[in-house]
Amino acid sequence: MGSAILKVKNLVTSFNTESGRIRAIDDISFELKEKQILGIVGESGCGKSVTALSIMRLLPKPSGVIESGQIMFNHTDIVDLPAEKMHEIRGNRISMIFQEPMTALNPVHRIGKQLGEIFHLHFPDMPKEKIRDESIELLQKVGIPDPESRMNEYPHQISGGMRQRVLIAIALAAKPDILIADEPTTALDVTIQSQILDLMMQLQKETGMAIIFITHALGVIAEICDDVVVMYAGKVAETSPVEHLFEDPKHPYTKGLLTSIPRLESPRKKKLSIIKGMVPSLHELPNGCRFQNRCPEAMEICKTEPPPLKRIADNHFVSCYLY
Ligand code: SF4
Repeated sequence: MGSAILKVKNLVTSFNTESGRIRAIDDISFELKEKQILGIVGESGCGKSVTALSIMRLLPKPSGVIESGQIMFNHTDIVDLPAEKMHEIRGNRISMIFQEPMTALNPVHRIGKQLGEIFHLHFPDMPKEKIRDESIELLQKVGIPDPESRMNEYPHQISGGMRQRVLIAIALAAKPDILIADEPTTALDVTIQSQILDLMMQLQKETGMAIIFITHALGVIAEICDDVVVMYAGKVAETSPVEHLFEDPKHPYTKGLLTSIPRLESPRKKKLSIIKGMVPSLHELPNGCRFQNRCPEAMEICKTEPPPLKRIADNHFVSCYLY
């Protein structure tokens, strides 16, 4: 695996709400290497999607703001990049696919038109015939049978799994260096989920792009990712190569998540352990460690000082006073 293509450094993203400013992500740092699939995992509200929207500079306006930190894409900090420069990067060098394919596609336009528009946007000189050929080829590549006739269909005429494949095709049209996939399989049934995961791994190998894969499911991370960032309440709890995380998890939150994964060999009646308690509201974050109210190993110091992210092995960092 190559050098870092994207470095997020001490990023703080906030939202102005009626009851004041809240920090949705608070001083997070991680790296995405070339040709890597990096997973970002955590419960809903932990800041995964806000991280993705910060990288894309697509935070809802005017409430969402990047307060501080850097997002280095190659050697450019994209946090302060003028809008038109960011427009060139977004969709072109960094693309994103979202959870719900129906809302991300335009219901009134045929699939071929939507895909063709993306080609036209990124390659304005490409002739119409070529756009059509490239669109058909791309639909074929993402596993859509009979792509020529699918080009004439509307999003509601195809299944959820096929719609997600169309969105992947749209995201790939500009041959991005980085693809950010925000829970792309959550709305799909299990068989289709695993087909889409296989497809993403295959496309990563074929194209050499790097992927950030956002999910609440550690099982999905185990299947496709090289490295993983575990987020909790807007902070990085632990980050490590995937195999370390599964063999030797360190953060009590990661351990809790791992015991919540259903395993085939578990006796059927054995209950999965679920982490007790709730993620704290971003309006009422405790002093000290944000996991303290759910942590079976909490100590006095955990209540007063937030634990720093500490390197405990090569590429393995954890934010916890136990280490
Ligand atoms: Fe638990 Fe303390 Fe570690 Fe937080 S810092 S995870 S409360 S032991």
